[in-house]
Amino acid sequence: MKVTFLGVGEACDSLYPNTSLLVQSKMGGHGRQLLLDCGFTVPHQYFASQPGAGDLDAVWISHFHGDHFFGIPLLLMRLWEMERRKPLYILGPAGVKTKVRQALDLAYPNFAARMHYPLQFREVEPGVMVEVAGFQWRTAVGLHSQRALALRLDNSEQSFFYSGDGRSTPASEELASGCALAVHEAYGLAGDTPGHGSIKGCLEMAARIGLPSLALLHIQREERLLAHREIEKYLARSLSTCKVWLPEPGETVTL
Ligand SMILES: [Zn+2]
Ligand SMILES: [Zn+2]
Repeated sequence: MKVTFLGVGEACDSLYPNTSLLVQSKMGGHGRQLLLDCGFTVPHQYFASQPGAGDLDAVWISHFHGDHFFGIPLLLMRLWEMERRKPLYILGPAGVKTKVRQALDLAYPNFAARMHYPLQFREVEPGVMVEVAGFQWRTAVGLHSQRALALRLDNSEQSFFYSGDGRSTPASEELASGCALAVHEAYGLAGDTPGHGSIKGCLEMAARIGLPSLALLHIQREERLLAHREIEKYLARSLSTCKVWLPEPGETVTL
């Protein structure tokens, strides 16, 4: 499994594109490609690498804030321009089909009727396991200003966790447990930003559940400048063996 950080920023960050991950795997000769979250800036990041029209198998939407799904209309339109024919899965919380249809109608009225590739929607609610594009998908609710789902992906080789927005909860920590890599939002350094994780909180969670590897992103744009120092301070005090880092846009990690 290969994870590329297309963007690592929060909604208002003008230096770092919106948080989004590209997950790729090659199982049994099949290349699979998933896009996790698709905010305002994400389609340009995605298409910059010149993917083929049919490369993308599925899109995950963690919740319905603009920096996580307002890129969907542009993504779908550009794939249409590229003459995609293959169905595209769109997975997310309950209501994902209605929200995507509404966004599409607002951005490009009448476009949905002209699309020549089908959209296949799947709700992935906690307690349900869905199998799509060679992965098993499971979710748990995080603590955010709007209902938001953390995601765990498993294939026969690896397990991977992506928090979306939101502070960890006992359910999301259980979901992350046993994963080779967790990617977690950490909007604040140590404080109690309502509805968001913090660097300190994420590092404590990693130690609690024995994570081997933790990437932190979606950090508040001014606090990001202090984030490295905060991580070093914490690691110097603890016995954590977890690899912790702040990925840069475009960076790829292979699990
Ligand atoms: Zn949000
Ligand atoms: Zn966000």
